Amino acid sequence: MTTNPVMIPGPFRVLDRDEYLTAVSAAVSAMNYFPSRPPLDYGMAEEIVSAALAAVGVFSPIPVPESLEPSCTALYLPNVPDQFDASIFGEWQQCADEPGHEGDYHENPDVGWSDGSPGSVPAGAADEMTTPSGAEREN
Ligand SMILES: [Zn+2]
Repeated sequence: MTTNPVMIPGPFRVLDRDEYLTAVSAAVSAMNYFPSRPPLDYGMAEEIVSAALAAVGVFSPIPVPESLEPSCTALYLPNVPDQFDASIFGEWQQCADEPGHEGDYHENPDVGWSDGSPGSVPAGAADEMTTPSGAEREN
């Protein structure tokens, strides 16, 4: 059983990376099965799968650190349906402030949050949370 380190209120759930990759691959395979359909590339499939799953309360895993912007790496998963519309609900958000900024409040143009809020991941923690079992880490 995989333990997910992101604290998120039920009934929502965050997929682990293997579940997510399986879902995206299934979408690509389903779309590309028929040659008459326009091909679905992996990036488009990720967006479709993420949005479809978020609509039913199942969220994408924490983004891999290599995909993050060169700013503060604190992350937040908007998880309160009343506060966020479909364009942001369940879509990982990254702080847009300078790396290592003071305080535990983070924000980007769409949302602000504090470390410790449900769905938040402190700066620098995504690296640890996306490395499976620490097996591939070099210390
Ligand atoms: Zn920040």
